[in-house]
Amino acid sequence: MRKVLAALALAGVTAATAQAAPAFAADHPKWAIVVHGGAGIIDRKDMDPKTEAAYRAAMSAALERGTRVLKAGGSSLDAIEAVIQGLEDDPLFNAGRGAVFTAEGRNELDAAIMDGANLKAGAVAGVTRTRHPISLARAVMDKSPHVMLIGQGADVFAGKEGLEQVDPSFFFTERRWQGLVKELKAKGLPIPPRPAGAPPEPAKPSAALLVPDDHRFGTVGVVALDSRGNIAAGTSTGGTTAKQWGRVGDSPIIGAGTYAANASCAVSGTGTGEYFIRLTVAREICALVQYEHKPLQAAADEVIQKRLTALGGDGGIIAVDPKGDVAWSFNTSGMYRARQVEGGAPVVQIFSDEK
Ligand code: ASP
Repeated sequence: MRKVLAALALAGVTAATAQAAPAFAADHPKWAIVVHGGAGIIDRKDMDPKTEAAYRAAMSAALERGTRVLKAGGSSLDAIEAVIQGLEDDPLFNAGRGAVFTAEGRNELDAAIMDGANLKAGAVAGVTRTRHPISLARAVMDKSPHVMLIGQGADVFAGKEGLEQVDPSFFFTERRWQGLVKELKAKGLPIPPRPAGAPPEPAKPSAALLVPDDHRFGTVGVVALDSRGNIAAGTSTGGTTAKQWGRVGDSPIIGAGTYAANASCAVSGTGTGEYFIRLTVAREICALVQYEHKPLQAAADEVIQKRLTALGGDGGIIAVDPKGDVAWSFNTSGMYRARQVEGGAPVVQIFSDEK
């Protein structure tokens, strides 16, 4: 440690700014990115080839959007925002358009972003009118004195910052609505009226509705390392189907579903948020890296395969560190995931048996 600090001091880096300047050999990859599109019960037998192809195409397009930013020398934050904006617009994922519904029949969106260079963070919960919650989280970080805004106030701030506002029905998809109806029926809860502005119920379920939705997840997240050596993390979600009473999950909770620090790693999670919050999953992985000097993959596996599993939680994470090491770990049968590291080929996977 003393050696590292001495090296940093030589480079003109003081302890106060050490977060921004990781001291690693110059030969590590200059950039790296990992994307997830949710984890859960995603079985080959339940997924028709067309659906599988659609998810793989969406994940590789997302990865490409991110690598384009990073290759051009853009920041990890810019790459994360660009990738997540695209996924928020894609109805395949439970974020932005395509978000799951609350028990009251609303789409309440959560998002967070964190800058590993300086530990700045922004988060929003229960947003209903902002097209890109990830951009709102970034505006909270960059332009407000706060870290977390919720509900109507968050949307008001978004409007003031000139972020695109939409009618709540913009987020409606028939697939997620039918998912809500199924879940409420199973729980014996009342079914709310179709939201104002939603299209009329189709007479026959379309092919899109036949997409297996039991995994109920589909949160999106990105972690990235940029050519300046800075890592960051971002996550965006509609939460869990039929959530009640203003429930907020782990995604916008800094340290639970989202965390980044140049001194350790950047993590974005997906799964049953209640467990991720109690284990502070993202921060816990970074703490194992920082204080126990565990390799990134080992730290991720320790928290997901052992601690999360022991507590009865399900889900997974993606992670990157300033050396360009990348990792993912999940205890479900699948997680939509993609990664690329400078000098390497893109990797896109869904099922747990893909290595
Ligand atoms: N973690 C999210 C939540 O609990 C859901 C998910 O990842 O699918 O809100």
